[in-house]
Amino acid sequence: MTPLDSERPRPEPGALPAGLYVVATPIGHLSDLGLRAIEVLRTVDLVAAEDTRVARVLLDHIGARPAVMASHAHNEARTAQTVVERILAGQAVALTSDAGTPGISDPGARVVAAVHAAQLPVVPVPGPSAVAALLSVAGFSESRFRFEGFLPARPKARRERLEALAPSDAIVVFYESPHRITESVDDLAAVLEPDRIVVLGRELTKRFEQIHRGRAGDLPAWLAADSDRRRGEFVVAFDAAPPGPAQSQPVDELLRALCAELPVRQAARIAARLTPLRANDLYRRALELRGESAQDEASDSDSTSD
Ligand code: SAM
Repeated sequence: MTPLDSERPRPEPGALPAGLYVVATPIGHLSDLGLRAIEVLRTVDLVAAEDTRVARVLLDHIGARPAVMASHAHNEARTAQTVVERILAGQAVALTSDAGTPGISDPGARVVAAVHAAQLPVVPVPGPSAVAALLSVAGFSESRFRFEGFLPARPKARRERLEALAPSDAIVVFYESPHRITESVDDLAAVLEPDRIVVLGRELTKRFEQIHRGRAGDLPAWLAADSDRRRGEFVVAFDAAPPGPAQSQPVDELLRALCAELPVRQAARIAARLTPLRANDLYRRALELRGESAQDEASDSDSTSD
C-alpha cells in the first residue's frame, strides 16, 4: 500500500476504483471492442482521448456518456496533470487513442508515466493492436519479435535502418503508410535475402483486409500488380535472418558431430544450448546437412510412429 492509498476517496459501490484505465480500441472493426473495454468506458468519469471526435463516435456506439478531453502529442504534459488531479479526487479516467492500443506508436506514455509518478493505479484494458494482429496471422516459427514502429521517412535513413535490421535474429515488425509502402517494399527486396518471408497486413479487420505472405524478392512485383494493394493502412513483418555464414561453419561441425551420435531433434536441442541459435533452425540445418528436408523427416516419423 502506498502512503497515498489511505488518503484517496473510496469509490461508490459499483463504480470503478479511482485510477487510469488504458483502454485499447478497435483498429477497424467496431465489434473488436472488448466487453471489459465497453464496461470501463461506460463507467469512467472522464475519457482522455487522442481525438475527441473519434472517441465520441465510439462512445456513442456503446451508449457511454463520460466527459471527454483531448490528450494528444501536443498537449500531453498538460493533460497528464489534469488526469492526475482527477484521479486524486477519486475519479476513474480512461485513456484511449484513435485506434488500437495507446502507447503503441500512439501518444499516452507521458500520461501513464505521470500517473505512476503520483503513485496512483494504472490499469491495462488490453485489446486490438495492429502489431499483434499481424503477428497472430504471420505463421513465423520464431517467437521473438522486434517492433520498430514507423521506419524513418527519409529514403536514405529508411534504407540504412532496414540494412541494420536485416540480420536480426528476431522477427522485425513495422508500421507503414500508403505513401511509402512501395519504397519500403523496394528497400526490403534490396536488403533481405530473396527467400526471406515477408508478411504484409493491409486494412486489418476492415472490409478490404488483405494478408500477403511471400518471398522478399517477389514483393515489389506483387505490390505493383494491383493499385488496390497499395491503399490503406499497413503493418509489415519479416522473418528472422537465417544463421549467417560466419556462424554456420563451426555450428555445422557441431551438428555433424552430435548427429553422428544422436537423433536429429536431440542433436538440435543440445546445439541450441551450446550456441545462440534456435533449436528449430538448427534442426532444419541438421536435416540440410544430411540432405533431407523437414517434410521428409515428418513423413518418415509419420510412417514409423504406429
Ligand atoms: N496504436 C495502434 C496499434 O496499437 O496498432 C497504432 C497506431 S499508429 C499511429 C497507426 C499505424 O498502425 C497505421 O499507420 C498502420 O501502419 C498501423 N495500423 C493501424 N491500424 C491498422 C490496420 N487496421 N491494418 C493495418 N495496419 C494498421
